Amino acid sequence: MSVEPRRPFARRGLTRVGLLTCIVCVLVVASLLPPLILRSREVARSNACQENLRRLGVALHQHSELPDSDDQLSDGAVDYVRNGCPDEYSWIASVVERVGDREAPFVCPASPVVGLETLNDLVAAKDSSAALGIDAERLEAGRCNPRDGLLSTEAGSAARRTKVTELLDAGYDTTYSPSWLFSHGQPRLVNVNLGDQHVSRVVPPLDLLANTTGPLTLRQVETAEIPANNVPALADGAATRTLDSTVGEGREKGMPLAPSASRGPSFRHADEILLVGENGNTDVNVLIPTAFPPVGTRMTTAEERKYASTRGSLAPEYGRKFVASDTRGWGATHGNQANVLMVDGSVKTLEDLDGDGLFNPGLPRTFEGPATRGDFATNLVEVSAFEVYTGTLLIVTRMQKGVFTSTRVWDWQDFVEAHETSGEE
Ligand SMILES: [Zn+2]
Repeated sequence: MSVEPRRPFARRGLTRVGLLTCIVCVLVVASLLPPLILRSREVARSNACQENLRRLGVALHQHSELPDSDDQLSDGAVDYVRNGCPDEYSWIASVVERVGDREAPFVCPASPVVGLETLNDLVAAKDSSAALGIDAERLEAGRCNPRDGLLSTEAGSAARRTKVTELLDAGYDTTYSPSWLFSHGQPRLVNVNLGDQHVSRVVPPLDLLANTTGPLTLRQVETAEIPANNVPALADGAATRTLDSTVGEGREKGMPLAPSASRGPSFRHADEILLVGENGNTDVNVLIPTAFPPVGTRMTTAEERKYASTRGSLAPEYGRKFVASDTRGWGATHGNQANVLMVDGSVKTLEDLDGDGLFNPGLPRTFEGPATRGDFATNLVEVSAFEVYTGTLLIVTRMQKGVFTSTRVWDWQDFVEAHETSGEE
């Protein structure tokens, strides 16, 4: 008798528990859905970005095969004052004007940047004397001509900003930032005879085209000791610069821009990243580290000495430094990742391990914490030079052999072996 009436209660209780369970399940699923949708959108955007880069890779190879391309994969960085008017002198011009791929996608759908830092130069350049390390005429080329083009307008004026907008609307608009190897090739060397010793020196600053061999050529790629699938060309640009003035709709003053180009071979001194040779000509050997640090290494001062060049030295006040390509132009655009086009046309992905949105090739940092804008927040190595090459020379052995000695000094295979050994620890 006492059992009977319990049943409905028990059943009702079960129903209530069941209902609650259902509600909880629905709530849990509902709370999971937005992140899932976000993530799948993120994946779709990253795939679209990778497709963009693959298509650009094909176009750049086509460019190098054109009879008048000088074997160059591109016409260099989209960098007005250091390379020239973008519709004549830039990797976009190579794709659009020379190869004729007018539909090529230069904008990553996930990118937070509204363009490259060179937009500020395009707005601010007074005349062709703004040119840095290139013929002034290059600033007057194409749509930048002083008759009715960019330089026919006053620097900073509304008319100038309209001209810049027109250039962007014509397709010279990108969110990708190149590697120094891709936009500058190799350093130009000068040979100095010091008594019985020949020394090869780089002429600074290495961010100027005049001091380098110019945009990377297919021949340089083919004769390099670094495999083409390890040499980076273009990558998602980092949102570390800002627009100085409003340039048309959707590009307001203060919006994020990416660096137009990598400054080149760099090292850290007193928490500042300096360009090799800022003090004058420098022995090319400083560009040759003894090895590259594996991902996950904390680049302390002691650790840095293990990788620094043992053959050449920077100015004495710097001590022994690890020199790497400045990769601060690249930013985590897809969650904590960035896509990178390699010169063989493949696409790789970099991972930001310390959450600063950037990818440290091994430039140390003596303290951790809020970094100055655009600098690495920690000393954690995030790029494997064996996946995405962060060194600054492609043909080291040949250079050494040809210039002063027949001894093999440096070999990619040695690095691979050293890397494998260090990976076993
Ligand atoms: Zn992207």
